[in-house]
Amino acid sequence: MDKNKKRKISIIGSTGSIGTQALEVIEKLQDKFEIIALAGGHNKELLDLQAKKFKPHYTCLGEEGLEKICSDKENDIILMACSGRIGLKPTLTAIKNGIDIALANKETLVMAGDIVMEEAKKHGVKIIPVDSEHCAIHQCIKDINQVEKLIITASGGPFLNKSIDEMKQATVEQALAHPRWNMGKKITVDSATLMNKGLEIIEAHHLFSMDYDKIEVVVHPQSIVHSAIEYKDGSVIAQLGLPSMHIPIQYAITYPERFEGIKSKSFSFAQIARLDFLAPDFEKFPTVKLAYNAGKTGGTATVCLNAANEEAVFAFLDGKIKLYNIYEITKKMMDEHTVIKNPTIEEIFEVDKNIRELTKKFIQQF
Ligand code: MG
Repeated sequence: MDKNKKRKISIIGSTGSIGTQALEVIEKLQDKFEIIALAGGHNKELLDLQAKKFKPHYTCLGEEGLEKICSDKENDIILMACSGRIGLKPTLTAIKNGIDIALANKETLVMAGDIVMEEAKKHGVKIIPVDSEHCAIHQCIKDINQVEKLIITASGGPFLNKSIDEMKQATVEQALAHPRWNMGKKITVDSATLMNKGLEIIEAHHLFSMDYDKIEVVVHPQSIVHSAIEYKDGSVIAQLGLPSMHIPIQYAITYPERFEGIKSKSFSFAQIARLDFLAPDFEKFPTVKLAYNAGKTGGTATVCLNAANEEAVFAFLDGKIKLYNIYEITKKMMDEHTVIKNPTIEEIFEVDKNIRELTKKFIQQF
């Protein structure tokens, strides 16, 4: 980031949880940014308010218009803050146009990480992670070749200290009551089943080209250590901070510069006093193993994992299934899926569509 020049940015998903927090960051750093475009999902009222306040060159609502924004070479960087599969196509368009990406949409890498990272390399585009764990790792890594393993932390979600039976009976309200992070609904349910961590393992594999055997998950309920890496010589470097998404969002859109940001209070080890770590319970949270397996299988296995899980999460939010059914449904779809090894982007979208239809059909039996 050139200190004397405003960075030109667009936000895809400006009305969502990450998008609104990104605008709070930009408001604080007004003299550093010029907003090219804002794109919202459904919330026209909020998008209009944002347009009035932040004066982007243009706005768009819904999926139409995303291609236009992502082909607009006026952009220095685009924040991909929409949720689910709709992030993939515009991300690829932006990459082909040489625009750097601040990536909050993890499904993009889960669905097509090989293609996205290869295209980014080809076009010299930076993919800077917004996901707090990957942002942490990004901050810790100096030379990826010297890294022995990645250690991704997980808060454990609202059911960490509940029994499997209690978890099976969980209501939507209980699943949405995340103890540490304030996020969108889809990701909050994913955090309750720990599928979010599963998706993050796949995301980390692609972002840092790290073998799955060298990506570890540790439960850390306080969410102060956002992730760590172990170097080959045994040194462990971790990134810490109070749990606020403003920090990773700001890091990603101002990288490599750092500015004074939105801080509620200064960090104090003494006030935090203790940090706990424990191994994840893979029996209670089998989604993590499912994700490891999908990642190791590769090809369209992760497309299937993502599509089945996302449809099951929507069905849970609609009150059609129980929380635990999300795992069962996703596993069944994975078991029945015939993996395509090196899929094209068209094949990825085809599999995504088919799996969603199959999953919806299967859910009708519940
Ligand atoms: Mg995360």
